[in-house]
This record gives sequence, structure tokens and C-alpha cells, in this order.
Amino acid sequence: MKEPRTLQDAIIYFADQERAFVYAVNWRWPDGIVTCPRCGHDQHSFIKTRLLWFCKGCKKQFTAKVGTIFEDSPISFTKWLPAMWMIANCKNGISSYEVSRALGVTQKTAWFMLHRLRAAMQSGPAIKMGGGGAPIEVDETFIGGKAKNMHVAKRKRVITRRGAHDKAVVFGILERGGRVHPATIPNRTARTVEPILKAHVEDGCEVFTDEMTGYNSLRETYLHQFVNHAVTYVEGKVHTNGIENFWSLLKRGLLGTYVAVEPFHLDRYLDEQVFRCNNRRTKGQNLNDSDRFNMVLSQVAGKRLTFAELTGKTGSEAIF
Ligand SMILES: [Zn+2]
Repeated sequence: MKEPRTLQDAIIYFADQERAFVYAVNWRWPDGIVTCPRCGHDQHSFIKTRLLWFCKGCKKQFTAKVGTIFEDSPISFTKWLPAMWMIANCKNGISSYEVSRALGVTQKTAWFMLHRLRAAMQSGPAIKMGGGGAPIEVDETFIGGKAKNMHVAKRKRVITRRGAHDKAVVFGILERGGRVHPATIPNRTARTVEPILKAHVEDGCEVFTDEMTGYNSLRETYLHQFVNHAVTYVEGKVHTNGIENFWSLLKRGLLGTYVAVEPFHLDRYLDEQVFRCNNRRTKGQNLNDSDRFNMVLSQVAGKRLTFAELTGKTGSEAIF
């Protein structure tokens, strides 16, 4: 049977338990050498009836799920892999209700599955942006609360206190035609924002922002120009349309598809949206649905999220 290219293929292909298992194992250990996730030993015996190994090093059994986002999950790969396909490829995101219906699991289970999958969508350390000469767009947005649809100028009049009160502030850097890096921030001061920018953007780049005050000292490091929204929305190449498009995709996912986002979970939703954005098909990047799925699958190890980690946070309130 040919490897899946579409969601429909994936559902059919992974419906076979052993085939789904073999596929997951091949991505977990791509060099073909299965090693014990507890002790690193590669001497073991495989118990085919139970799809697990007995390690000769630590004398314990391990499954393909140990040490991954799937650890301790009773859900089989026949459901995990189609769910992974959906979240890797649905441009506007996928809700726990849709996954629940599509895979025949409860909505609570689907919610937990999606959050574990998001952990595998986190990007690793990236090279700094702007090295190729593309301009950098910098902007911020509010998620949740009444300010979510407000224009920046109005926000500044209405929200006089700094920081997030009933909403989260997300700071975003986008390399035009390239990658995006958003980060939730506690407040909008230069002390918060500038180190993030300097960590991700090469010195001397063109940086375009709106007129936010926190960016005043950027000209020491960058060729900083800003858009004056009150005068004109787009002044030639000085605009922040790219990052604003990213915000609208993010918010479409959050408002249209997902039911509620708590501040603690926002970083996970950002990881998800960044993954699809940075791995979209572009001129220099010929990626398809199958590639994106395999990328997520190759990142499942070492990224386990426990139920306690997901739900044990107190003090976070729903913001939608
Ligand atoms: Zn071992």
C-alpha cells in the first residue's frame, strides 16, 4: 500500500494497527536501530503480539510511545496518526469537537490529544532572521478580552495601563516571505520586547513596526521605520501586512475553530500556527501535507506533556 498523500489516504492507511505502528517506529528511529528510551541500550527482544520490546540493558519493557508525546496514552496509533495529519495540515486549525467526531473519541480525549500534538509542533532553535536581506516586520496583538478587534490607535486610548489584564499580549516578528516568531509577553515595554528582537533578528536589518512607543530605541541596532496608521496604512514597502495576516490566521483559528483559550495554553496554539506557517509551501520550500505530517512525527520524542502539566495550572482563566 502506498504511503498516504491526503487525509483520506491517511485514515485508511493508518486504520491497520500494525501498519500504523511500523510507520511510527520508522520515524521514531529513522536509522532503523531501536534503542531503549530509558537506558539507551540497543539489545532487546521484540514481543510481536504486544508490539513492545524487552530491553536487555535495564530489563524493562518499552513501547514505541515511551519517551514521546504519546507516553501512557491508551489511544492507539490508528487514531493518533490521523489526528496528527489533521493538525499538521488544516490551515485554520482543528477543534477537539471535529477530532472527536472524526475519530470516535470523547471531546475531552481529543482536546488532550491536540495539546500533546502541539508539543511536537514546537520549532527548535532557529537561525536569526533577516540574514538574507528581507525586511523584518514587528507587531503585537491582543488575544482575548474586548480589545481583540480594536485598532492599535484605539487600543492605546482605551488601554492605558500597561500589560495584559483580561487579555494576553503576543509580540510577533516576521521575515517577509519567510518565517514568523511570535512570543507571549508580560508587558509591552522596551525592556521586554528588545531582547526578544535582538535574539531573533540580525543587527543592521530593516525593521518595520507600527508607531508603538516601546520600539523607540531600535534605531541603535536596526534600520527602523514605522507605519503611521493615522496617516496611511501602507507606505510603499514600509508596512506590517505580513505579520498582521499571521495574526488574522491565528485569530481565525482561535475564534472560529477553538472554543476557548486559556493564557497558559496560548503558547501551544502559537506553536501550532507557527508550524503550519513556517512549513507552508513557498517558492523555495516545496512541502506537501505528507511532509508536514512526517515532520511532526519526527518530533514526538522527548516532548511529552502530562495531563497534570496541561491541566494543573491554577489561576488561568478562560479568555474567550
Ligand atoms: Zn533499557
